Amino acid sequence: MTRKLKILFVASEVEPFVKTGGLADVAGSLPQEIKKLGHDIRVVLPEYSQIPQIYRDRLEPVTNFRTRVVWRNEYAGVNKLNNNGVETYFIDNKNFFYRDSLYENNDKHVQFIFFIRAILEMLPKIDFKPDIIHCNDWQSAPLPLLLNDNYKKYDFYQDIKTIYTIHNLQYQGQFSPEILDDVLGVSHEHWYSGNIRHNGLINYMKMGIMYSDYITTVSKTYAEEIKAPYYGEGLDYALQMNDDNLRGIINGISYQQFDPETDQKIYENFIPEKLEAKTSNKTALQKELGLPVKKDIPAIGFISRLVEQKGLDLLTRILDKLLQEDIQFIMLGTGQPGYENFFRELAGRYPDKVSANIKYDDKIARKMYAGLDIFLMPSRFEPCGLGQLISMRYGTIPVVNETGGLVDTVQNYNEKTDEGYGFTFNSFDAHQLLDTVNRAISYYQQPEIWDKLVKKAMNLDFSWHHSAQEYLELYQQISK
Ligand code: ADP
Repeated sequence: MTRKLKILFVASEVEPFVKTGGLADVAGSLPQEIKKLGHDIRVVLPEYSQIPQIYRDRLEPVTNFRTRVVWRNEYAGVNKLNNNGVETYFIDNKNFFYRDSLYENNDKHVQFIFFIRAILEMLPKIDFKPDIIHCNDWQSAPLPLLLNDNYKKYDFYQDIKTIYTIHNLQYQGQFSPEILDDVLGVSHEHWYSGNIRHNGLINYMKMGIMYSDYITTVSKTYAEEIKAPYYGEGLDYALQMNDDNLRGIINGISYQQFDPETDQKIYENFIPEKLEAKTSNKTALQKELGLPVKKDIPAIGFISRLVEQKGLDLLTRILDKLLQEDIQFIMLGTGQPGYENFFRELAGRYPDKVSANIKYDDKIARKMYAGLDIFLMPSRFEPCGLGQLISMRYGTIPVVNETGGLVDTVQNYNEKTDEGYGFTFNSFDAHQLLDTVNRAISYYQQPEIWDKLVKKAMNLDFSWHHSAQEYLELYQQISK
């Protein structure tokens, strides 16, 4: 029998409370799986104004105290609720977390140092001494350093180990060295050693890499890729230095939350053995979005933040050509205004073929995953990617660039061997994307083959089952 572990999972966003991307999905589902394996895992996030009232109404006050940041003593409230068995703590300070944006604030370096200090100081007050603190992305990356430098002198903190997971190396949290004394309050030796410095700036991501006991990323391929300059975002040397303590663990998705057989958010439930109901989802989606209702043409979709990483430069280059065929293209996403305008304008030119949904909308997303035939993910880089996992669960076949987690989860279809269940291309190039979408369409037009691919994709297992076990083994290994 393995020892029961205590783990604190720290994230700047957690489903269903607040979400901008994949980190929230992971923070909302991985702890639940670890809990099911019999361990005491708890989650902590900021109490943002964006959290819906239905959750605020359930919050219970736990404690409050003052914590020092920028030479001031700031109020730190701790409230909690039970999220399907997982104790979830919310750090409250209205000055820091009642803002229009989660991450676009000028004082974000202060916001998240406050968050980290409040977390570390709440632990003795709530009488929870974790074996492991699991940090995620730049927002909680300074925690291992602050723990070592400011808190380990107290008995309570001495045995706590840390894991740092990189969900996206591109967003690093880089700030002027002036914050060293005022905000961070750590010894200058960390700056002089280079451990927290990159390009003359303080780099939060690098702190996580250099000071945590173990580093993970969200797929095996991305863990390899980021050790080389092309994907390393300037920090490949720091990752290489810590190679012995770096591993990729692929993200899962919640197979309860995303289940075409029971999902209440889609038009009609379906199973691999009865795919007519998937077609009903497609026609209902076409109707809702004001497109002509046509069963037999491929509905091709894209759901994503509209940023360069997601391969928009390729996609925007091929769409006019692709739209000469008898297809429909449905997109959902927000982001850079140039891309938003591109899709609005495209929908204006092809009103019968294109639906541009420039918004963040979980309901439409679900209906798209269920109703589309083909899902595009031509990312330039992709640490794991969840869109392709969700789409396959709903029998929507992905077309992806062979990078990061897309390599680890989508196997190219080979007609000769009958292996594979998706369509992949191996150089980041618009012609390759167009060829690959056309290849997918040519198989869509052969229903016996297409049905087989859809069934195969739906029967894959990208639940947390294996990956939660891998995290647990890692927790056990480093807490010894
Ligand atoms: P990233 O974390 O880089 O944004 P992922 O593929 O890992 O990319 O996760 C994105 C998640 O956000 C998926 O669950 C996807 O369905 C969801 N998503 C992205 N854009 C939207 C949107 N506009 N509306 C609803 N859900 C979205």
